[in-house]
Amino acid sequence: MITPAVILHGGVGLWKGDRGPVEAGLRRALDAAWGALKLGAPGEEALTAALSILEDEQVFNAGFGSCLNELGQVRCDATLMRGNGDFCGFMNMARIRRPSQIALRDFAPGQKLLRVWTDALMTAVDKASPDFKKLCGWVASEDEMIAPHVATMAKQRLSGVAQAGLKPLADTVGCVVRDAEGRAFSGTSTGGIWGKREGRVGDAPIVGAGVFADDALGGLSATGSGEFILASALSAYVISALRAVSLSKAGLSQAVLQQEVDLAAKRFSGECFGLICIPKYGQPCFAVNSDDSLAVALRALDGSGHEYQQVGVIARK
Ligand code: ASP
Repeated sequence: MITPAVILHGGVGLWKGDRGPVEAGLRRALDAAWGALKLGAPGEEALTAALSILEDEQVFNAGFGSCLNELGQVRCDATLMRGNGDFCGFMNMARIRRPSQIALRDFAPGQKLLRVWTDALMTAVDKASPDFKKLCGWVASEDEMIAPHVATMAKQRLSGVAQAGLKPLADTVGCVVRDAEGRAFSGTSTGGIWGKREGRVGDAPIVGAGVFADDALGGLSATGSGEFILASALSAYVISALRAVSLSKAGLSQAVLQQEVDLAAKRFSGECFGLICIPKYGQPCFAVNSDDSLAVALRALDGSGHEYQQVGVIARK
């Protein structure tokens, strides 16, 4: 039987410190996506509701909490995908605190488009209606994109006390949804990596790498060292595993997902890899490589039709 399910992540990392704000953000995002699904909202709207909440929270490296590039600027990437093959994403976005809302606005039926953010796209949002500007978290200046937590971390990095001081509490965000009809939806939103090269693009907005959905197989969202998620083709291996289990209408076992993550981590040691997944059949699952933790939240129905959920910052078992 196919049942609805939601899983979201708040990134992978070696985090210390208070997990309260991370878990609170994950819970609110999970409630938003699940509530929207229950009300019959399209899957991409349900997952964008969750992503927007996480993008607003400065503890996550997405939207308002995004890290800074080599020029000290926030530049965001976000892509949404439907399991029918449609996708819509933007890379290197400036002055938008909820990048997923820009992708959702442009996510017309049949859309298959990844776009680099340009001055013309920025000007179009500068001239948009006040309601839309509010919805997507438009801000007038670059400085308004830098969250207080991020500004403090940036100062510590400059003064060389990053190791001892404040650390990121969480990272990139992603959400995967399976609706009551078994359709798959996925979205990933990120500020990228600290000090990234100007114009750098990681895995997060790339279809088949950081984000993927296929109604016949399920959906996934990845997080971690973007260059190495791309180079390892981690998500491609997971998609292949999803194909294998879908033929027998089985779920993807946590062990298989973990094995793929471990293989990527073995090939590129020292890098971090995390992945969430909802297969076409069966339960949501996630995996993270051995040294790191994944901020994760999921809600689904068990074999007896009872709702269950898990929320936390979880290390590899
Ligand atoms: N994968 C993201 C990137 O490389 C960063 C992350 O997930 O932490 O842009």
